[in-house]
Amino acid sequence: MLIGASYYSECWPSTNYPVDAKLMAQAGFNVVRMGEFAWSRFQPEPDRYEFEWMDTCIGHMKANGLKVLLGIPTRVAPPWLVARDRSMLIVNQDGSRAAYGGRYEFCLNNPTFRKAAAALVHAVAAHYRDETGILGWHLDNEYGVGICYCEKCAAAFQAWLRDRYETLPELNRRWGSVYWSTEYTAWEQIDTPRATENRQNPAVVLDYRRFFSDVTIRFARMAADTVQSLGDSRPLMTNMHSSFAPHNLDYYTLNRGLDIAATNNNFPQTDSGQMNLDLAHGMKRKPFWSVEQCVSGGGVPVMTTISRPGDARRWTYLTVGHGADAVIYWAWRRYTLGQEQFWGGILAHDGEPGRFYDELCQTASELQRLWPVLEGTDVRPEVGIINSHDCRWALDVELNHPDLAYERLAHSFWRPLRDRGITCEFADPEADLSRYRLVIAPALLLINPGIVANLHRFVQEGGILVVTVRSGVKDWNNKIASGDLLQSWRALTGLRIAEFFPLDLHPGSRTAQFMGSYEQVNVASSRSHPAGQEIVTADGFLPHGAYPVETWIELLEPQAEVEVLATYGRDYCAGAAAVARRRIGAGQVVTLGTVLSKDAQDDLADWLLAEASVQQPIRATAGVEVLVRRAAARQVFILLNHTDEAQSIRTRMPMRDPLAGTVIDGQVDVLVRGVRVLVLDQAGAPEHVIEPA
Ligand SMILES: [Zn+2]
Repeated sequence: MLIGASYYSECWPSTNYPVDAKLMAQAGFNVVRMGEFAWSRFQPEPDRYEFEWMDTCIGHMKANGLKVLLGIPTRVAPPWLVARDRSMLIVNQDGSRAAYGGRYEFCLNNPTFRKAAAALVHAVAAHYRDETGILGWHLDNEYGVGICYCEKCAAAFQAWLRDRYETLPELNRRWGSVYWSTEYTAWEQIDTPRATENRQNPAVVLDYRRFFSDVTIRFARMAADTVQSLGDSRPLMTNMHSSFAPHNLDYYTLNRGLDIAATNNNFPQTDSGQMNLDLAHGMKRKPFWSVEQCVSGGGVPVMTTISRPGDARRWTYLTVGHGADAVIYWAWRRYTLGQEQFWGGILAHDGEPGRFYDELCQTASELQRLWPVLEGTDVRPEVGIINSHDCRWALDVELNHPDLAYERLAHSFWRPLRDRGITCEFADPEADLSRYRLVIAPALLLINPGIVANLHRFVQEGGILVVTVRSGVKDWNNKIASGDLLQSWRALTGLRIAEFFPLDLHPGSRTAQFMGSYEQVNVASSRSHPAGQEIVTADGFLPHGAYPVETWIELLEPQAEVEVLATYGRDYCAGAAAVARRRIGAGQVVTLGTVLSKDAQDDLADWLLAEASVQQPIRATAGVEVLVRRAAARQVFILLNHTDEAQSIRTRMPMRDPLAGTVIDGQVDVLVRGVRVLVLDQAGAPEHVIEPA
């Protein structure tokens, strides 16, 4: 297994290299990630490249048995380059020019910048083509941050639109340009969607996000092609950002052109950070790499994490449990200069090894001993959560309610499943879904014929599809769905949305705060639709009969043969369908017309898992988190105790503890903030094979 650290060797004197390399080797590390921000050191002047400093560092790493994951640093241009053409600094949405000094503020459509970046990639790749100490290439860092709205981007956007729509009448029709008189009669009239007095057309804003994603992927492709054109076949990768927020980049398309999916994991203590790992696994549907694994938390601009004893070790197991086959910590040592001096590191500012170093020595040693049982295993998710970048961008443009973000709706399913030991995977809506038994589509706002057909096929063949509120609303141009597209969606769900509205339009509500002032909230509406709505469930659906609901109401009107699983209980909505099921082929579509409370989501998770015949490896009440990696005849259970109390669980079958060299048959303790790894050498296991003691 690959375990190591990120090391900005350009920030330390070369006398540190042998000391650091030796300490890394003594920790049991075998990989080091370097170089991704070192443009000004690789190319200090336009016509002068310098590699000796990195050659020296790589030499020390090799001498200590460490392989190098080498970054190609194209996202922070050195000042001499910016001085050539300051128009390479991005133009923000408000029309202002970005200042120099941060990161990611360079226009990827600027020819001066692109040419210089291509030359740097070629120089670095050519110099290290025959360097055996390099195991692979790390392209850039966190692609997808920053959007430019400059004139060069406008020209590139016009060309992109010509490719997509071919004629202006077609563009105007697809965009709905007639609204507010924005029908274009020449391509050059189309500008970047900068800030205006009111709002830009959502169709234009969405296309601009897509355009910029394509621009970024082309930029990454340039680097990948340059490396490969030199006959270099070592793996290519880049790191996805660690937050689950929507980025300006379609990660699925980006990763299709790369060899290994990799992500940062800066916030493993959060559900958002864990969901990001399940997103990373969904990129290639196989083990991924965590290349910025949290040691002791973020510190820019405020300290965000307390890393108690045991946390860095447990977060490492958590990452492996979600499907990582390589863990590279950020950072080797806390930096003493620059913009990230208070981010966590394995070594302290003064370079002294302390408890983090000791803890990760232990972790690396354990994982190398565990590798024979982990190698070849994977998480093998049976539940997919649809993740459409297009939908998330569209929701970004028009959220409709502060609590309807994709991340929140996805999390409302993800957390109850996680509590039951179920690992989900965030899936591209157009991917083959046949590997899942259950697919959840949170806020699938936009649809296109390919996605509807893909979901229909999944259900026809026996899958269970869950559709939430705000799904099937719009076409791929961010206009309300109509015609054949709408009919195909209604054929899938069997439903028409007769009415929809936010639920908490009352003074002091989040909606009121979201709108900026109470005066803007329609008080008459708040009286018509009071908070406190509930659903009443049919026999055989959720066990408690009635549940409060929140945030959003859609009144579902059956259009085809559907079974109503729940109706609204109050106000004029009483009796209208709130949850409905349509059976198609061997499968079913369950549509939720509202947002369920936490208790209801828990019960719904049990009901869905039973309907889909997905086994729960653990009872949700056990008090430990369980992640399972599987191979054909082996299951590896990773038990994590995130609490400050020892937890006891019971295994219903004998399992071996490979680290202790013992066999567990019955009760086992998971220490405070600790980890336990248990192995079952067979393919299947009974439901709830791990229970509370
Ligand atoms: Zn630009």
